[in-house]
Amino acid sequence: MAAARELSGRTRLTAIFGDPVAHSLSPAMHNAAYAALGMDRAYAAFHVTPARLREALRAIPALGILGVNLTVPHKERAVRMMAHLSGEAHILRAVNCVINREGELHGDNTDARGLEADLREHRVALAGRLAVIIGAGGAAPAAVLASMRLGAERIVVCNRTEARAHSLARRFKDYARKSGAGASLTIAARGLDALAEAGLIAQAAIVINATPMGLKTGGFAPLSYEASPSECIFYDMIYAREPTPFLAPALALGRRAIDGAGMLVNQGVLAFELFNGVAPPAGVMRDALMSALGRP
Ligand code: NAP
Repeated sequence: MAAARELSGRTRLTAIFGDPVAHSLSPAMHNAAYAALGMDRAYAAFHVTPARLREALRAIPALGILGVNLTVPHKERAVRMMAHLSGEAHILRAVNCVINREGELHGDNTDARGLEADLREHRVALAGRLAVIIGAGGAAPAAVLASMRLGAERIVVCNRTEARAHSLARRFKDYARKSGAGASLTIAARGLDALAEAGLIAQAAIVINATPMGLKTGGFAPLSYEASPSECIFYDMIYAREPTPFLAPALALGRRAIDGAGMLVNQGVLAFELFNGVAPPAGVMRDALMSALGRP
């Protein structure tokens, strides 16, 4: 366990709101950066239920909290509770960072940039290729946007509730058209049964899991791993000490498998800058996360 730091009457707070939140590794990352910079600031975790989200957000200016990360299940509902939204939060229709600017709440979202940075660090090449994205909830739009920014030419969104996949695909088709991003981009929507189709998976450059599937249930939807090209990358937004149920079969076939630890670090680094106006020292947040995950 990390040694407790002394808080003073001048200590300013940042935090995360989630339900559940006790498992969050964000406090370890942010507090390591404060310690490295010698800042009199601390990052706390608050268990906030959906029914009390509005109240908890209102308390931010009252308590002088500098900024707050939002995690499951608050990111989408919080959009309506912000005084201002960044362009990124607007596109993603989700907020994962709330910044207190002189008492006004500004909503931003660092998930897509965090994922994009992680994919670039892993030298993932998507230009002209197919990205298969599993999920249509809070985190899936970040996967769609990151894939677009890496130049994917086709995106197929697969979700348990197919109607939600269609609505996500429609939104991003509109965004691609209006923003001029990816004139030749096609985005399709399917149910989870599409993952078992060898014909689809055989064309994928990347398959991204943006659902909590496998986290508690243990199992993952049937997926045609063996049809994937040998260079296909399997990316799970979930991070864990062991390979996740989504990644384990890919690893067994010798495919590249990446979990969401790098995305978590990169979105956290961006959040730290938004909250504190300074960048964390290079590598400190990553080292804190890896040590919390028991990785070398
Ligand atoms: P969410 O909104 O709760 O995810 C809901 C999505 O998951 C929906 O598409 C839902 O399908 C699907 N889903 C849920 N349970 C399912 C099941 N048993 N079988 C099939 N589909 C199921 O959560 P989120 O915010 O999108 O996050 C998704 C995951 O990504 C979480 O595990 C989260 O921790 C992780 N994440 C990681 C990072 C990171 O930095 N690494 C960042 C963000 C999120 P329906 O539409 O059919 O309900």
